[in-house]
Amino acid sequence: MPMSTQTIAVHLPDGAIREVPAGTTPLEIANSISPRLAAVCVAARLTPVSGTVAEKLAAEDESAMYAAEDAAAERLVDLTTPLTADTRLELVKENDPEALKMLRHSAAHVLATAVLELFPDTKLGHGPATDSGFFYDFYREKPFTPEDLALIEARIALVIARNEPFVHEFSPREQALAEFERDGDFMKTHFVTKFTVPGDEVSFYRNGSFVDFCRGPHVPSTGRVKAVKVTALAGAYWLGDEKNPQLQRIYGTAFFSQKEMDAHFARLEEAAKRDHRLLGKQLDLFSIQELAGPGLVFWHPKGGIVRKVMEDWMRDECLRRGYLLVFTPHVMRRELWKVSGHEGHYAGNMYSPMELDDAEYRLKPMNCPGHILIYKSSPRSYRDLPQRYAELGNVYRYERSGTMHGLLRVRGFTQDDAHIFCTSGQIEDEVVACIDFAEAVLKTFGFNEFKVELSTWDPNDRAKYAGSDEGWALAEGSLRTALERKGIEYKTIPGEAAFYGPKIDIKLVDVLGRLWQLSTVQFDFTLPARFELEYVGEDGEKHQPVMVHRALFGSVERFFGVLIEHYAGAFPLWLAPVQVGLVPISERHHPYAKKVEAELKAAGLRVETDSRNEKMNGKIRDFANQKTPYILVFGDKEETAGAVSVRTRAKGDQGSMPLAEFIAKAKALIASQSTEL
Ligand SMILES: [Zn+2]
Ligand SMILES: [Zn+2]
Repeated sequence: MPMSTQTIAVHLPDGAIREVPAGTTPLEIANSISPRLAAVCVAARLTPVSGTVAEKLAAEDESAMYAAEDAAAERLVDLTTPLTADTRLELVKENDPEALKMLRHSAAHVLATAVLELFPDTKLGHGPATDSGFFYDFYREKPFTPEDLALIEARIALVIARNEPFVHEFSPREQALAEFERDGDFMKTHFVTKFTVPGDEVSFYRNGSFVDFCRGPHVPSTGRVKAVKVTALAGAYWLGDEKNPQLQRIYGTAFFSQKEMDAHFARLEEAAKRDHRLLGKQLDLFSIQELAGPGLVFWHPKGGIVRKVMEDWMRDECLRRGYLLVFTPHVMRRELWKVSGHEGHYAGNMYSPMELDDAEYRLKPMNCPGHILIYKSSPRSYRDLPQRYAELGNVYRYERSGTMHGLLRVRGFTQDDAHIFCTSGQIEDEVVACIDFAEAVLKTFGFNEFKVELSTWDPNDRAKYAGSDEGWALAEGSLRTALERKGIEYKTIPGEAAFYGPKIDIKLVDVLGRLWQLSTVQFDFTLPARFELEYVGEDGEKHQPVMVHRALFGSVERFFGVLIEHYAGAFPLWLAPVQVGLVPISERHHPYAKKVEAELKAAGLRVETDSRNEKMNGKIRDFANQKTPYILVFGDKEETAGAVSVRTRAKGDQGSMPLAEFIAKAKALIASQSTEL
């Protein structure tokens, strides 16, 4: 092969520019920097060089409102991909978030290699990476048995030990199709037909003798898959159609190290122990009843108390922050939902109309129209704005059966909903105040970390959205500015806006590092227009207010579910359904128990006395199993001293303390919403 005479410029992240012959690979560049660096790289990220960096950032800012194009400009390639044009190059190491996905997809190839070596008559479907691992779909007349899976796992280890390089190859589409058809590879034939066009060179990856239709990229070799595990086997119909052959989907997960994999399974185990459905039953917090229907939550007395504390905090905080409390009906005339546009844009999530004697009615899926009617009930002046209406409003939304999940995915729930009606000049301050409030909610309930997303519209899918181009530009601009004023980092998600306007979503991070979507702040220029809302401005003229929807718990049910999992049911003192458990050592201490109980209750504490004729240790254990924060034990000695022996659910015996001192300590912890005991 003649040496290329063309030279290209490769821009490295540190600003250095390397002039190299066209055809140079990222691996060669990595090696030229340091062979040790090359050894820990898994891929390269390329970004076309066009204009200066400053120009590129400005363009991104402008286009981000309309499309995700800036993301498409960047691509991951194999370390062995020849570079053919000037490019920015970033070497991707194992700790890069995208590296794990590549590794897992590579592990899917390794799995398919093992399956074909053991069961050569198997036909291949596809094998993508998922959020927690990967799968591969196979067709085989005889279903895989657990023994087969064990054999497959052992063979996977061999394929990894062979450390076969993943080699990118191409063949003409017609040839590829002919070969797949000849071999009866009906799924591969389908994928090639669907994803390529006549005349294409079809992309394949080879490791050893295994070849798969795939666009890549891949890690350099099978040996880079350091830890892999087959996790499950499930049936799936080809193309999701039950008339088609049944496939066998083998699930697995993979990591760059055994240590990371061990941590992953430890996390799963911990998450299973924290499952709010399990704890909800164990701690008698809530239930979902077959007779009543799926997705409908029954709050038991202990859950009810936690809910009261959550709601009291929320209502008090709303009042403190200048909100007004309102209540609105659960069913309203269908006509209202036509005016609001829910009939058109949201009907799929609403329950069927109910025919009453005067009109058709529908259950409310949202509280907004109710709050709008309150706004509209009297004339408003610019002096009245902003009007902030807050309601813990029950809403009902249709979710497909089978998608319900404890408190997290339900059909009836309570939004801590508020709508702010204001002038367009006030909007930024209001959004900033909403974000402040959301931060206060997260911090108070024990979440220190969160991630923020700005969901914008997709102007190419106009039918999905109400409102004008100018309206959307104004709305997205205000949300962006508010986030920037707060100095909050955020990610833009095009096409994820509500039909009536763009939104800011705040996702909290729980103790296991899982993300939960709860708080949302949404801009709306559509409903004020539909309902012809007005205020009289300083100029004496009529103007249209703008509207912000915001929910901070999101759904009280869902937030409670997350709280249960975050704390593993061991709520902080201020939230705990029973804060103090009383354990009289014997029957003759029952009168003292009554006195202690009365004093604690008078101090506002939630108390339960275990006066059963059981052993002291059994009673202590039962309170600890119920995750009761404090357990007070007392016998003759304590009674004489007017004291109690204090235990916590986690740390055990804390020694004896005068009752008055314990009460003062508990009250201080509650007042500060402390997570300490
Ligand atoms: Zn692949
Ligand atoms: Zn709303």
